[in-house]
Amino acid sequence: MNTARFERSTLPDPVAYFNREGLRLVGRGRWRSVVCPFHDDARPSLRVNVDTGAYKCMACGAKGGDVLAFHRQRHGLSFVQAARDLGAMA
Ligand SMILES: [Zn+2]
Repeated sequence: MNTARFERSTLPDPVAYFNREGLRLVGRGRWRSVVCPFHDDARPSLRVNVDTGAYKCMACGAKGGDVLAFHRQRHGLSFVQAARDLGAMA
């Protein structure tokens, strides 16, 4: 029986996660900007929330509520695959 379960509290810190993904956060405060990986971005159009991991692109409309959603969208993973990747399956 598969007893793995999702542990939201063990998702990586958003700043550490975005850095690991090779995205350079620009600016200060809760919302930072990065060059959007979801479209051919010339300037940082993607806004990310460093507290929650929420993100929204002002150019292409890519958006999500946390680093798990970002990881799924960027790498085309299922919820469980992404959660495992991020060390959030206990
Ligand atoms: Zn975009």
